[in-house]
Amino acid sequence: MSAAPLVRIQHLTKHFNVPGSWLARGKGKVHAVDDVSFEIFEGETLGLVGESGCGKSTLARCVVRLVEPDGGAVLFDGEDITHRSMRSLRPLRRRLQLIFQDPYASLNPRHRVSRILSAALQLRGSGGQRGEAMNELLRRVGLAHYFAESLPRELSGGQRQRVGIARALAPEPRLIVADEPVSALDVSVRAGVLNLLRRLQRELRLTMLFISHDLGVIRHVSDRIGVMYLGKLVELADADVFYDQPLHPYSEALLSAIPVPDPEARATRRQIVLKGDVPSPIAPPSGCRFHPRCAFAQSICATQEPPLRQHLPGRLAACHFPRLPESRADAT
Ligand code: SF4
Repeated sequence: MSAAPLVRIQHLTKHFNVPGSWLARGKGKVHAVDDVSFEIFEGETLGLVGESGCGKSTLARCVVRLVEPDGGAVLFDGEDITHRSMRSLRPLRRRLQLIFQDPYASLNPRHRVSRILSAALQLRGSGGQRGEAMNELLRRVGLAHYFAESLPRELSGGQRQRVGIARALAPEPRLIVADEPVSALDVSVRAGVLNLLRRLQRELRLTMLFISHDLGVIRHVSDRIGVMYLGKLVELADADVFYDQPLHPYSEALLSAIPVPDPEARATRRQIVLKGDVPSPIAPPSGCRFHPRCAFAQSICATQEPPLRQHLPGRLAACHFPRLPESRADAT
């Protein structure tokens, strides 16, 4: 991993208006993303995880400018792209590619795979060169060359997602944003697509923002993990230390819910059941947004928002009382 961040997200904010009937009742706006900052380094995969509705997909769409942020900045390769016009963004689109959750909805059902990939390979020289590049792309994603003549409906879900990945790779992007790329797939084919993404990371040194609600999935591909809760980034850490010892109580609860196949490990594992439901993003709680559900909350948590800050080398958490090794020891 190089020292230079390819992407800098600075205080990014996105609120959505809610339908008129809600507004009439004075309900305000959905706080989808609120003051989120992080960096993605060249050659790394940052996994962003959180329950559905936490704002991670909105954040991903802000990064590739499919959604206009309300505040903050998106810097790509040192350039501020936050307010670039759609026209001036066009050349940049090749360098920022998105892999969608639903491969079927993202592929034109009337176009054969060859046409879908040809469109993405537009800038790769002559027709012959594009043909060679297409065959190479199909090979890279584990599809035989004859799939070029298939229509999306003739492919399985896993094959369609491989076409979606090939299309994203075609313009040789600097950043790939993968938004829940395996969650619409059958469990039986998920592992194959995840293994493919891992192999491509290694072979092509991809830089990727990988979004998922599933910490088990994100573990397979991520160098670092970011955890979102109600529009806020609440933890950011290297993947290897995060899974062993998360600092934020919400991360700890999420991790405790991952299924454990080993019966012995399962027997000794303590699952943390969070109290209550996720609060409304229209009126998020004051202070720490997690405080109504947190087992470690104290009075300050309801009034003062904890900043995302470093508590251990390379490990950031937005918590007044992070789960540091000494605090765990005190609790036992
Ligand atoms: Fe819990 Fe307080 Fe930390 Fe929020 S700041 S996660 S309420 S301990």
